[in-house]
Amino acid sequence: MANIKFFSGENIPLELHKVRMVQKLNLPPVERRVEAAAEAGNNTFLLKNKDIFLDMLTDSGVNAMSDRQTAAMLICDDSYAGSATFTRLEEKVHEIFGTKFFLPAHQGRACENIIAQAFVRPGDIIPMNFHFTTTKAHITRLGGRVEELIIDEGLQTTSDMPFKGNFDLDKLRALIERVGVEHIPFLRVEAGTNLIGGQPLSLENMRAVCGICREHGIMTVLDASLLQDNLYFIKKREAACAGMSIREITRAIADEFDIIYFSARKLGFARGGGIAMRDKALCERMKELVPMFEGFLTYGGMSVREMEAITVGLEETMDEDVISQGPIFIDFMCNELMKRGVPVVTPAGGLGCHLNAREFLPQIDDHEYPAGALAIAVYIAGGVRGMERGTLSEQREPDGTEPIADVELLRLAMPRRVFTMSQVLYAVDRIAWLHENRELVGGLRWVEEPSSLRFFFGRLEPTSDWQQKLARKFRDDFGDSL
Ligand SMILES: *Cc1c(COP(=O)(O)O)cnc(C)c1O
Repeated sequence: MANIKFFSGENIPLELHKVRMVQKLNLPPVERRVEAAAEAGNNTFLLKNKDIFLDMLTDSGVNAMSDRQTAAMLICDDSYAGSATFTRLEEKVHEIFGTKFFLPAHQGRACENIIAQAFVRPGDIIPMNFHFTTTKAHITRLGGRVEELIIDEGLQTTSDMPFKGNFDLDKLRALIERVGVEHIPFLRVEAGTNLIGGQPLSLENMRAVCGICREHGIMTVLDASLLQDNLYFIKKREAACAGMSIREITRAIADEFDIIYFSARKLGFARGGGIAMRDKALCERMKELVPMFEGFLTYGGMSVREMEAITVGLEETMDEDVISQGPIFIDFMCNELMKRGVPVVTPAGGLGCHLNAREFLPQIDDHEYPAGALAIAVYIAGGVRGMERGTLSEQREPDGTEPIADVELLRLAMPRRVFTMSQVLYAVDRIAWLHENRELVGGLRWVEEPSSLRFFFGRLEPTSDWQQKLARKFRDDFGDSL
């Protein structure tokens, strides 16, 4: 994707690829969408794909593959141990990150499970810029605690700070002083951050954080699941890196860390994951967990086809034209929404466009889940599925109190190379309509609340008949249009 100038002066992202395989979509009428919302317990994770028009739930495992990836999947070497396919993947990881050892795992959270089991003990504290749901669940399951050290701007939904995912270095120094290095098995950097809007870190900040850790002998771990967008943002927003290639930036980042793990459902446009490191002793501490939980050391739960696709996908990630597609499209969507008065997170980040649900729906109390209500309202308004990223995605404290999320967001993910411009503009139009009619939207309450990762499979109901009212208004305004 390129920022090509148009004669008209319009700012239109231009795809540098063509579509050669398509999938038919279904757009059910608004009455069916209200029914489907109820059947899914008002949880967008539980909607069925047949009821969804534009699936903007996630960018995980749903990115379009390239012709080269698809071709590579046909020539894989299928053997339990020692397959040439694994060797190709391992060599690509080493080439890109400059690491020497690689442990495969079936996806990102599986890497987190292995790292947490190998290093986290009860009472430990794991500093990070911001948590991710599955990361936190693995650490707390083992009796550890997460400490978030993000800069204050990171939690301001509107800002012009280019690197809202940065660590606050003073907070880091103060934490080390307060708890002592013996209680910090490692520090984790999430580049870029998922839950606060795909906001990136600068290379400068990563270097400073890792420098402080080296001074104190603290191991550093990079969650590189969302690295592809972060690489592009560093290239575009960090003046000192403007002259570096994506490959050079990748290497400069990787050189700072002891362990790098990633979800290949995002990094590499496929499905899978893995842990890379330079040090043999670190590898030895995690190695035996791989055959126990994932699969043998030369596949780790991944199919050989997927491993071939990751190898090609990682190489494609080094191409700025390829990785710019997501951020440019997301920036376009955010701008179109802002033009229509819809509150979004700024600056636009990676992985998706994020609506600020607290501002969109100020009438809804935090304990009635503004972002959860907005997610289901956007689905009813247009058959567009997003993901709640707010209080619903939090975990209750052991005493049952419900922590209120710092930010209450609806994420509209932009799977890479999947949607067209008119589809994005359709989503923008329906969201703008909903915004005009926002006073009709009400809250949600629990019907079934699981004790852990409740946002995945919990069921809720509307606190009033607001969904019927919203559907009636839709019919009034749109006539017999879907
Ligand atoms: C998606 C994601 C993970 C988990 O990866 P899965 O492959 O979905 O298990 C971990 N960290 C970050 C930052 C992610 O975005």
